[in-house]
Amino acid sequence: HQKSKVTVVGSGNWGSVATKLIASNTLKLTSFHDEVRMWVFEETLPSGEKLSEVINKTNENVKYLPGIKLGKNVVADPDLENAVRDANMLVFVTPHQFMEGICRKLVGKIREDAEAISLIKGMEVKMEGPCMISTLITEQLGINCCVLMGANIAHEIAQEKFSEATVGYRTNRGIAEKWVRLFYTPYFIVSAVQDVEGVELCGTLKNVVAIGAGFVDGLEMGNNTKAAIMRIGLREMKAFSKLLFSSVKDSTFFESCGVADLITTCLGGRNRKVAEAFAKNGGKRSFDVLEAEMLQGQKLQGVSTAREVYEVLSHRGWLELFPLFTTVHEICIGHLPPTAIVEHSERAPKFS
Ligand code: NAD
Ligand code: 13P
Repeated sequence: HQKSKVTVVGSGNWGSVATKLIASNTLKLTSFHDEVRMWVFEETLPSGEKLSEVINKTNENVKYLPGIKLGKNVVADPDLENAVRDANMLVFVTPHQFMEGICRKLVGKIREDAEAISLIKGMEVKMEGPCMISTLITEQLGINCCVLMGANIAHEIAQEKFSEATVGYRTNRGIAEKWVRLFYTPYFIVSAVQDVEGVELCGTLKNVVAIGAGFVDGLEMGNNTKAAIMRIGLREMKAFSKLLFSSVKDSTFFESCGVADLITTCLGGRNRKVAEAFAKNGGKRSFDVLEAEMLQGQKLQGVSTAREVYEVLSHRGWLELFPLFTTVHEICIGHLPPTAIVEHSERAPKFS
């Protein structure tokens, strides 16, 4: 029986932690090759050295996950084609805005029997409508793609603190179980549900709510207000997901990918943190400037997702049904002041 070979496409904050998790398991499980290849978007560090070379020398991603050893069986590779060539299990974990370009480069370069999983929270909006990242991967590369989402703030998992995650799959339970085995550790409990769109939309949409929660924090409106924003947000997440895909299951919102990820991101995520700073400055400093200042190269997903969701809503005439999603976007682009987060969201209609 052939051993499976894993490549991780992406090496940011979560990409590096996911690689560490996977690499600890491939060493233990005989059905996987020990080596895990991690594609690095190459950059030159202030020292003049290349990031991929420093990762291979120190076994640490000194820029995106300093202080954490990745595992000796991790090989950083700046050459995308070379990194994926031998792999039959591809883990995609980059900021979502880079995935179209990456997929384009991978066409014809991957193994025909490859399986994919996406850890990416976000979506693309095309002329034809919204396109989830797992669908982009399937359509452009012709391969099956599961998703893994959950309440997973990367630096906490890097320290091996307990958390849970959800794998979403379309039809093949056997493949989903293989992904669960690859990620599962005593401190990272993974379960699988047959609802790929529901899981992926939970992970994607909670970033918009987290921006709203950050505004509340920046305005010092307190815990009750923040909880109200989270509740309205969860309701909009569910309504939006079901309008796009009637197959989305209610139970998915009670998995780690749903309410748990919403809570952790609204408490401790990067989207929340930068939105708090935005509101503190009265919206006078843009998200792009704040992101560059506060995140050292890491990327926000919530601001662009809010825009993408807004495009879908306005195209379909659904803006009034989603006052929170709509208001978050209008605050992000400066059309409304941060205080509008409560004034507008409280007009939320009742969904059944
Ligand atoms: P990150 O925010 O640390 O992003 C930076 C990464 O983007 C770096 O690897 C950088 O090299 C790369 N990059 C920059 N410009 C690029 C380009 N032009 N082309 C390709 N890559 C480029 O990344 P992350 O935290 O690993 O996030 C990846 C995905 O995982 C996102 O969708 C995010 O929502 C999700 N996620 C993140 C966390 C977390 O706590 N960090 C947790 C769960 C899920
Ligand atoms: P942020 O990108 O807001 O940090 O959220 C991370 C996350 O997705 C936790 O599950």
